[in-house]
Amino acid sequence: MLFNTLVIGSGISGLSLALHLAENGQSVCLITKESNLEKSNTYYAQGGIVALGEKDSPDLIVKDIIKAGGKLVNKKVAKEIASTAFKVIKEFLIEKVGVEFSQQKGKFVYTKEGAHSIPRILFQKDYTGREIELKLIQKAKANKNIEIITDCMAIDLIDNTHHSRNPEERYRKKEVWGVYAYLLKEKRVIKIFAESTVLATGGVGYIFKHTTNPDSSTGDGIAMAIRTGCEVINTEFIQFHPTTLYLPYSNERFLISESVRGEGAEIVDKNGYPFIKDYHPLGSLAPRDIVSRAIFDYLTKTKEPCVYLDLTKVKEKYDIKKRFPQIYKKCIEKNIDIENNPVPVIPAAHYFCGGIKAKLNGETGIKRLYAIGECACTGLHGANRLASTSLLEGLVMAYKCAETLTKKKDKLSEKRISQIPDWIEPEGNIADPVLIEGDIENIRNLMWNYAGIIRSPKRLKRLNTDLLFLYNTVENFYKENKLSKRLIELRNMITVARVISSQALRNRESSGCHYITSEREDL
Ligand SMILES: Cc1cc2nc3c(=O)[nH]c(=O)nc-3n(C[C@H](O)[C@H](O)[C@H](O)COP(=O)(O)OP(=O)(O)OC[C@H]3O[C@@H](n4cnc5c(N)ncnc54)[C@H](O)[C@@H]3O)c2cc1C
Repeated sequence: MLFNTLVIGSGISGLSLALHLAENGQSVCLITKESNLEKSNTYYAQGGIVALGEKDSPDLIVKDIIKAGGKLVNKKVAKEIASTAFKVIKEFLIEKVGVEFSQQKGKFVYTKEGAHSIPRILFQKDYTGREIELKLIQKAKANKNIEIITDCMAIDLIDNTHHSRNPEERYRKKEVWGVYAYLLKEKRVIKIFAESTVLATGGVGYIFKHTTNPDSSTGDGIAMAIRTGCEVINTEFIQFHPTTLYLPYSNERFLISESVRGEGAEIVDKNGYPFIKDYHPLGSLAPRDIVSRAIFDYLTKTKEPCVYLDLTKVKEKYDIKKRFPQIYKKCIEKNIDIENNPVPVIPAAHYFCGGIKAKLNGETGIKRLYAIGECACTGLHGANRLASTSLLEGLVMAYKCAETLTKKKDKLSEKRISQIPDWIEPEGNIADPVLIEGDIENIRNLMWNYAGIIRSPKRLKRLNTDLLFLYNTVENFYKENKLSKRLIELRNMITVARVISSQALRNRESSGCHYITSEREDL
């Protein structure tokens, strides 16, 4: 199979790119490891997407992005994204794909989230991601230039210098020609070749014990890129969302969107006191890292299990069931009536600000390899992401990447790819699921405890040691056993966890969502 473009991932970035390219006549193969195309972080996005609010300007958006992300924000990228935002949302998402955003009297309604200076976020009730994802899927399925393969998990990137049987390739510049992918239902590995390969594999939330992300967010694309020799940056910057539903005896962390606070909800303690204002003048709407740390600090000091979100002011403005139907439904299922009671919440890992170093058009340091969306790092988020900018980043990256790939005339010859051998599966056993799940739980616990909201050099040193031990165990385990989805994910999780842990230890300066105590405090 040789395509113009192989897209790995069916979230906002992968689907948008596939659609742009297919419309320009390219042959596109889009794969996802899940049975359902919609299973992605995109589907779960609630709050909305940054657009251009009334009395807004790209400069003001950039100012807010920098306020949240600090000096590490790539200003050039931020400016380009802010100035392209409304065009891509309007012309592509709304007009072409048919995404509907909430309106009142025929006009878009804009909401506000933490650290935004004005309301500028377009949303569809509290299920913006679902609305975008399902509409994109509908369009992609209808396009005959896109071959969609579900239950198809990319294992490793194929590159000329490492995989080709032609020794001359070893001395050429490294190029990526596609992937080895595991067909989960048929239990066999295939090769998919493409002139350009695009990683759109999303984030890493699932490597933390508590996360808002689905269990598919295991950092696969990032791990594959690392194994191929790509640069991966800013990985210490993991954003922890302050408000996820606290359910005792459960690891499930359903997000209570920041837009609930944007509409007036306040974080309070069990006595109803809005304690965040003691930590930051913006109170409940301070940047996410500050609110998460404030809650963490408060819980550590008080030994309480959770804090609360008080929706009294939201109720004064809205019918909560209509404005936040998904959140209302989820809470009622758990016997929490958010119209009349405060919601118990705690922070959880939410968004990966780092990733594969990429330009805004997805170009990485390796020829024919691109990375877009949450798995990529353009520097837009710096040390901390401004709320609702990630759907936008995925969308704009897909648009820019499509512009580049449409112009590209760099053919890949059948002769060269014929030198790539088939995948050789070891004669091993079926991996013991108890060992796989045990290792996964170990990684998730270690990452949450030692690389979580508040880090210290001592914790990170311990983490590095423990992860190295686990890494060696997992690599051997992987080589000795037959492939399975969870085994491949485990290998990717440990790879990504190690990079995060070592980059976090190397960066002794707290900034944005990387908060590290000093050696002195650590004693
Ligand atoms: C609960 C929640 C709420 C959020 N709310 C907002 C919000 O309101 N606004 C906002 O801007 N952002 C929000 N975000 C963040 C945003 O949703 C994500 O950053 C964005 O959707 C990422 O899109 P993506 O296309 O990069 O990746 P994803 O949407 O995560 O898609 C990744 C795809 O890659 C596939 N994949 C992964 N590994 C492999 C593999 N090995 N082989 C094949 N396929 C693979 C997955 O199956 C999936 O299809 C939220 C995130 C969460 C979890």
